[in-house]
Amino acid sequence: MKYNDFCRTDIEFVNVEQMKEACLHFDYKKLVLVMSKRAGVRYELERFVRDLESRYELLWLGESVSYPTQKTLKEGLDALKGFEPEAILAIGGGSAIDYAKGMKAFYHSTEYQTVETITELLQKKEIRRNPIDIIAVPTTAGTGAEVTKWATIWDSESKCKYSIDREELKPDKAFIVPEFTARAGGELTITTGLDSLAHAMESYWSKKTSPLVRQLAVRSIGITIEYLDQIIKEPENISLREKQCLASVLSGLAFSMTRTTACHSISYPLTMQYQIPHGTAVAMTLAQVAEKNSGSFPEAEDLFALFAGCGGIRNYLEQVCGETVSLRLRDYGIARDKLPVIAQSAFTLGRMDNNPVEFNRQDVVEILKQTF
Ligand SMILES: [Zn+2]
Repeated sequence: MKYNDFCRTDIEFVNVEQMKEACLHFDYKKLVLVMSKRAGVRYELERFVRDLESRYELLWLGESVSYPTQKTLKEGLDALKGFEPEAILAIGGGSAIDYAKGMKAFYHSTEYQTVETITELLQKKEIRRNPIDIIAVPTTAGTGAEVTKWATIWDSESKCKYSIDREELKPDKAFIVPEFTARAGGELTITTGLDSLAHAMESYWSKKTSPLVRQLAVRSIGITIEYLDQIIKEPENISLREKQCLASVLSGLAFSMTRTTACHSISYPLTMQYQIPHGTAVAMTLAQVAEKNSGSFPEAEDLFALFAGCGGIRNYLEQVCGETVSLRLRDYGIARDKLPVIAQSAFTLGRMDNNPVEFNRQDVVEILKQTF
């Protein structure tokens, strides 16, 4: 078996002080900080920003970006004009890291980008080459953005979503800081935990699965099943948080080799048209898709066996969501007669066709009905 060096990201598990210390000792002169002003307050990083300012020529992009669009990228790139950064330090959830990847993808020292040129580059799947490093510090445990080479850019007009996907976009360095994830409330903890679970399960049954991928996925799922519930009860327990951070990195590594499948594909219109948080939207169809895929991917019984102790996948999801998160479409203002329209936009190339079983529109409508 050929072993691919599948992750060039230098991943370090550290505490907050170690993260700060390391960030003050990079060999850069010009640094861009992507971190919302709100996050700076929430994670008590005001003093750290001042230290960065005295150590580097710092450009701080402090706008809060959730689900980056061509418009938010253009605003960021405008601010970067003439700055010629050597690195982008992104501290935040998956969106902050995706935003940093988007900036690297389209930054060019002499080119000016408009919403139109960014859209054109997204459509042509072109990126700009530059030597900017990305340092990712995820504050939630689940997106895996710190170890993947892609990012999602959501269309400003909400018509579609784009994916930028290039080796150069994989972060050079990732600091995993469990203390940050301990600031997340119950809902965010659950939705990001479920996103990690979906990454692991989808990589397990993906058409590109491998024994290596399945081992990473099994470990990740096992940790989530064992600890996510506990974390909800003891949100400030850092050693429990560290477990879920590990689960997230493991599932990130697993799906960085396979990409996702039907659940992610079906989730995109749910997030875009109905603002259902990403992790919730992918978890909504996890049990249904698992059942349909059953028997069509290697070592399927080992995957299902992981959930045997909690009464199967559906029961597990209900238990962990409790009263905090609903996985029912009707709770998000979706009318039953809209399901065929949603199904129409549920086919993302590279995701749906990466599912071991082929689904047509009617199959997706059926899956959506079951989760209604
Ligand atoms: Zn995801």
